[in-house]
Amino acid sequence: MTSVTTEPIAELQRRFADAPATEVIRWVIERFPRERRVVVTSLQAEGTAIADMAFGIDPAIRVVTIDTGRLPEETLEYLDALRRHWGREIEVAVPDPRELDPFLTRNGANAFYNSVQLRLRCCELRKVRPLNRVLAGADCWISGLRRSQSEHRADVPVLAEDAEHNGILQVNPLAHWSADEVRAYLTDRGIPLHPLYARGYTSIGCAPCTRAVQPGEDERAGRWWWETGVAKECGIHGRPALLEATG
Ligand code: SF4
Repeated sequence: MTSVTTEPIAELQRRFADAPATEVIRWVIERFPRERRVVVTSLQAEGTAIADMAFGIDPAIRVVTIDTGRLPEETLEYLDALRRHWGREIEVAVPDPRELDPFLTRNGANAFYNSVQLRLRCCELRKVRPLNRVLAGADCWISGLRRSQSEHRADVPVLAEDAEHNGILQVNPLAHWSADEVRAYLTDRGIPLHPLYARGYTSIGCAPCTRAVQPGEDERAGRWWWETGVAKECGIHGRPALLEATG
């Protein structure tokens, strides 16, 4: 049993395995009170599509993005474009300077290039902990993972207990969608696309840690491109093994 639903998780997984994304999102919205559920988006195509579907069902749903402090200017401009498009608020979670400042003082602003441990520590302080604070009062969060994004995400379920966040429910309504299907959804809905996609990016994160990919490369190959042998993850969705060693 999940800690937040009365239904066995396996039963929910069977029920929603191939369900339309809006059906999954509607179930979350009807199942959990507004203050106990949240859409989390990094403002990539998947999260934007999910936020659009969720706003269509509950216009007051809580939608949150994390501003790490190192986002590309294009992402900040895109956030404003989406606010204008929907006429809705999008909450912004930020790192806690009491945690981040000592790290910067000790290691410098671009320490992530120096070692995997320092990169993961930066992700921990700028992304993971802000998300933890967002989810502290939630029973369920909706995110935009897709199986075809990378080998590491090949088995992403539509619903699962999130061991990283006290066993709350994590829901990925687009788990079985392709990148093209997500873009087509946004196009059909007249929703602007993040401008960096037009410049060869297939995954978009912090400015110093993301670049465009070459044809045929993995969707997430442009993330932390200088690293080898480590999952292209920040710790929010699956904690890379080395993170444990960073304290
Ligand atoms: Fe830090 Fe780069 Fe991770 Fe952003 S993606 S939090 S800049 S290491």
